[in-house]
Amino acid sequence: MKANLVLLPGDGIGPEIVESAKSVLEVVAKRFGHEFQYTSCLIGGIAIDETGDPLPQETVDACRQSDAILLGAVGGPKWDDPNAKTRPEAGLLRIRKELGLFANLRPIKMFDELADASPLRPDIIKGTDILFFRELTGGIYFGQSGTGEVDGHESAYQSMVYSVPEVERIVRLAAKAAQGRDNRLTSVDKANVLEPSRLWRRTAARVMADEFPDVQYDVVLVDAMAMHLINRPADFDVVVTGNMFGDILTDEASMLPGSLGMLPSASLGDGGPGLYEPIHGSAPDIAGKGIANPLATILASAMLLRHSLDLNEEASAVESAVQEVLADGLRTADIARGGDSVSTEVMGQAVTAKLA
Ligand code: NAD
Repeated sequence: MKANLVLLPGDGIGPEIVESAKSVLEVVAKRFGHEFQYTSCLIGGIAIDETGDPLPQETVDACRQSDAILLGAVGGPKWDDPNAKTRPEAGLLRIRKELGLFANLRPIKMFDELADASPLRPDIIKGTDILFFRELTGGIYFGQSGTGEVDGHESAYQSMVYSVPEVERIVRLAAKAAQGRDNRLTSVDKANVLEPSRLWRRTAARVMADEFPDVQYDVVLVDAMAMHLINRPADFDVVVTGNMFGDILTDEASMLPGSLGMLPSASLGDGGPGLYEPIHGSAPDIAGKGIANPLATILASAMLLRHSLDLNEEASAVESAVQEVLADGLRTADIARGGDSVSTEVMGQAVTAKLA
């Protein structure tokens, strides 16, 4: 296969971790006989410094023409001035919008080798492997808002709106992903209280019955889900939910494995290129020291192989290589728990060595 990949290293540790992930993709291409072309573009603070814009048009054009995009992270204290004309994060929000990325995927996978890093007991967390689908471009975060007065008191409102096609498209994506995993899908809503949740529930049930009768499907209220994630996280396979519920639940779930440095994410749209990135930020406190954990970005590149290039075997090979280096006892400082640690470069090389 030939594929055009755009790299957006960004700020802070971004360039270090994207370099590691690129080496992994290069080894995958060599081992499996693919040809990946890379174009590196500016985004975030470095783009502001060099062009005055956190998302230069050149970057948007290159992303549109690509098969998939791998992003490091953006932001840092240098661009934190509240009076500044623009901010690095504006580049990130705009690229998601430009590419119509309506689905945010966050896998929460517990590597048994790191079970002692979780705040939960190993017997509860063991085997946890959830793939969240959060709706990213609708719902309350994009609803009409305003301020006014109610009964003589200052007041504010924000409305939650979902349309049938918005629900259908994300439920379909999630159900398809479930078919490639354990074939189970849980939809999370608040249908006992909210009208948009009742629409969500009706629509999801119809899509599942008509198009995915083979997938085991259930629904859970968001408040109950918040408890289940702590009590029995290993019971879930794929979970689909709206924007705000997904925002909160995925942040709760991201604490389960015990390290930000291990968690990738993806944002997908309708057929165009997907955007893949670690969930952590630019870690300015450790930037340039060569100690950042590259595994979240390497796992993001595995998601890129699976979801944008349909290269499942290659994606699984990358995930297995990560598991093997952890089993060998290799740890970057963030997951070393006071023990010996290795550099970003050594960790990246260990993964590529397993793959090669
Ligand atoms: P952060 O995720 O960058 O860092 C939080 C802590 O985790 C820090 O101590 C950091 O050293 C550590 N950490 C993060 N990733 C790590 C890794 N791969 N290896 C080892 N340690 C790691 O969050 P923050 O400090 O709140 O934010 C820093 C900057 O990143 C801010 O400017 C913020 O706006 C930005 N940010 C960007 C994104 C993004 O690009 N998607 C996401 C979150 C935050």
